[in-house]
Amino acid sequence: MSVCLLERRRLACIEGRSASGLHAFKSCIESAPPYCYVLGVIGGFQMKRKDFFRILGVLLAVGIVYGALRITGAENIGNSGKIKLYSQQQKGYIMADKINKTEAEWKQVLTQEQFQVLRKQGTERAFTGEYAHTKDKGIYKCAACGTDLFSSDTKFESGTGWPSFWKPIAPENVASETDSSYGMARSEVHCARCGGHLGHIFNDGPKPTGLRYCINSISLKLEKNK
Ligand SMILES: [Zn+2]
Repeated sequence: MSVCLLERRRLACIEGRSASGLHAFKSCIESAPPYCYVLGVIGGFQMKRKDFFRILGVLLAVGIVYGALRITGAENIGNSGKIKLYSQQQKGYIMADKINKTEAEWKQVLTQEQFQVLRKQGTERAFTGEYAHTKDKGIYKCAACGTDLFSSDTKFESGTGWPSFWKPIAPENVASETDSSYGMARSEVHCARCGGHLGHIFNDGPKPTGLRYCINSISLKLEKNK
């Protein structure tokens, strides 16, 4: 398309608006291809001032609504800021800072084995973990950041050699995503606060959820009931 024709369309847009205001501007958008609209915006200062502020008002309102939705929906999303978590000690929900560390920083606070599982999605060998058969009562916390993850009340003997739970202590405290490594579509589960890999979720667990959270012992730290 020639520049000449583009320019003619642009002028037609501007003329349309000048003639009958916003209505003409709308019909211009509907009838004209997108570049006409872009050129029309560039030529915005030539439209009636009233229409210009009306459009500006609509754009601002859209921006405010979008911003509000982002803020209210931002809970537990993203890699920074606060996160809503259940705290067994507080017997309720708390707001906690998300934890973001570099690989080098994690290596300073985790053992090599913990680092391989928690930060590199590794899996400990079955029947070797500290909590595979533990029946002690208490709260299993994230070994990396101390977030409450599972209650011993939901632990069951799965026969797999890994500690297994039928639900987390609260849905907010763990997060999951599909993991397609090793050619299997599995749901990977990790700590919602620090992102540390915990294990996988399967659909062959006991009632009432029918879920099996198959967790590496090394990702957990049991705080026994006193
Ligand atoms: Zn954690």
